Amino acid sequence: MTDSTATVPRQSRPAVDNTADAASVEFRGLRREFGATVALDGLDLTVRPGELLALLGPSGCGKTTALRMLAGFEHPDAGQVLVDGEDVTAVPAHRRDAGMVFQSYSLFPHLNALDNVAFGLRMRKVRATERRARAAELLELVGLPDKGDRFPHQLSGGQQQRIALARALALRPRVLLLDEPLSALDAKVRLTLREEIRRLQQELGITTLFVTHDQEEALSMADRVAVMRAGRLEQCAVPSELYGRPATAFVAEFVGTMNRIPGRLADDRTVVEVLGRRLPVDGEAPHGPEADVLVRPEAVRVTTDPQGTAQVTGSAFLGAVTRLTVRLPDGSDGTEIKADLPTDSAAAFAPGTRVTVSLPDRPVLVADRTL
Ligand code: ATP
Repeated sequence: MTDSTATVPRQSRPAVDNTADAASVEFRGLRREFGATVALDGLDLTVRPGELLALLGPSGCGKTTALRMLAGFEHPDAGQVLVDGEDVTAVPAHRRDAGMVFQSYSLFPHLNALDNVAFGLRMRKVRATERRARAAELLELVGLPDKGDRFPHQLSGGQQQRIALARALALRPRVLLLDEPLSALDAKVRLTLREEIRRLQQELGITTLFVTHDQEEALSMADRVAVMRAGRLEQCAVPSELYGRPATAFVAEFVGTMNRIPGRLADDRTVVEVLGRRLPVDGEAPHGPEADVLVRPEAVRVTTDPQGTAQVTGSAFLGAVTRLTVRLPDGSDGTEIKADLPTDSAAAFAPGTRVTVSLPDRPVLVADRTL
């Protein structure tokens, strides 16, 4: 059986702990309505000092509203925002000590890169020599020491976003807020910048809240990921736990690819019968007696079997693995599931091949039937 948690890459903490002075952040019961829309519906969440926490969730679930509340651009109808235990709910944005990077690079077009980075320092009346030195230091930090005299239109999207990051860090903020900072960039630049932001964040040990709707981005960069749904927190956990032990069916299906296989509860709802197996029901049992068994594609094993009652109906090359689509035997409501196998053994599983499907001993979750 494949360990479904093993496929999620984890980044280790840096050798040097720079988080000693980092701030904690707490959202307590945040509520915000826009007319008839409830953007936040009692959001509770804690960000630990020095961690990078990703806010992940479907469009409209309130991620940006939550971030803007920490920045002070948005005010809650109810609830509190605390930074290092101090209630900052009523503190205006310019006193919040937060550096923010947006999706659109939002650099000042008439200022060169150095002056963009130094802008906040100028507003704070820092002397010219000092702010130029600090801006140069930041340009160095984001890997653009020789681009100080370039104007935004002379820089690539990735470079502009690095400048925006340097500008956000110039005032040594207590928290760094990133609102989909990579989504306007092309795939390759996005990957590079992902690693650089993470490296920088760890080097500086700065508490960071990162909004994204890209689950791969969240899982690969964050210390913990908070999954939001309809203005509330659904689960907050380290990436491997979120993927391998999701608390709810919503998280299980939002993060990664998931199969739903029809089963039936038995034995006091502690066991589910599925594809001829009896598997344990961990955690809260669904209402039953019908239930769905949630299993990851990499945990499904498929073997060729001329007598098999399941059949391969499709195949997609994904690089190292190939993802088969398999129609389950009669009695499974015509369900099709996905099964991953190493690409070098995929040739034997052409569409039409009869197969036997084996499930792992522990499903990710057993959930209420949705159909
Ligand atoms: P996305 O991933 O699409 O950016 P999100 O999770 O960041 O979504 P928010 O931008 O926080 O979601 O919006 C939450 C809800 O509140 C949405 O329904 C949105 O339309 C609504 N909303 C946000 N800001 C305003 C506003 N200023 N006026 C009216 N409605 C708003």
